Amino acid sequence: MTTILGVIGDPVTHSLSPVMQSAGIKSAGIDAVYKMFPVTPAQLADFVTEVRQNAYHGFNVTLPHKQRIAPYLDEIVPEAEAIGAVNTVLNRNGHLIGYNTDATGYLRSLTEEQQWQPEDKTITLLGAGGAARAIGYGLLQADIAQLYLVNRTADKAVAMAEELSRVTRHESRVKAMPWSQLPSCLSATDLLINATSVGLDGTRFDNLPLDTLQAGALVSDLVYTPRRTPLLAEADALAYTTHEGLGMLLYQGAEAFQIWFEKEADITAMRQALLGALGD
Ligand code: NAP
Repeated sequence: MTTILGVIGDPVTHSLSPVMQSAGIKSAGIDAVYKMFPVTPAQLADFVTEVRQNAYHGFNVTLPHKQRIAPYLDEIVPEAEAIGAVNTVLNRNGHLIGYNTDATGYLRSLTEEQQWQPEDKTITLLGAGGAARAIGYGLLQADIAQLYLVNRTADKAVAMAEELSRVTRHESRVKAMPWSQLPSCLSATDLLINATSVGLDGTRFDNLPLDTLQAGALVSDLVYTPRRTPLLAEADALAYTTHEGLGMLLYQGAEAFQIWFEKEADITAMRQALLGALGD
């Protein structure tokens, strides 16, 4: 029988997961289909019932359900619990398990695409939303030296630093900093990550002193539309190494694939599918 999987969201039509996962499934020769499931918050309970009744093998979760899905699941793995969001669900014989592959996917993208190791590094993370929290958690699990959290709304960075300190027990390694202190953070930074929505559709930061970033640093942007954001273009011009958001998208999907099928995803096939969908 054909295995059914998919992605739920509201809206979901923009999701690149179907094209990426379908390429992975095809390459692995698995008898499965990956669908798009438009599900509003009011339809979430019925959708989970449908998953159990029709034995869908699993699904990805995108906005606005990444936190809402939790009460409907039978189990949430500790990493997803600590991040406070679920992006992947596995249906193991009617037992629904929630995972979060964003942190692992991001770190895998850094190490496999950039050969960049987080140990003993100083990192500045811009943003305090869901993506920043997942990545902050993942970095603190690695042996980094220092994580600076900087957000437009400073209180949210303070709250996130407290929360990440609590769940990782690495209080000394995480610190919220006001935006005005960016030059002193950046001068000691090995990796600068943009986890804000600035860059989407070509938007720019108007107050990011990129020239104060330590020489030789890596600049990473989670935004992948466009692939080369204004931040990455500016980093290129200043001779920093750059890391595109497409990598996180790809590797979080590869990690989900592995959870569902218990085999390594074909990264090359999935990357090609993503590039094709983005018009490259
Ligand atoms: P979110 O929860 O809505 O958080 C948005 C963040 O952006 C907040 O920290 C917000 O600051 C900040 N922000 C918005 N406009 C800003 C501006 N003009 N100047 C400075 N900061 C600004 O979003 P999210 O889910 O964390 O996603 C963040 C970004 O990551 C999005 O662009 C998303 O596309 C991208 N993303 C990529 C991947 C991937 O696989 N590559 C995965 C997830 C997310 P305030 O708190 O001050 O509002």
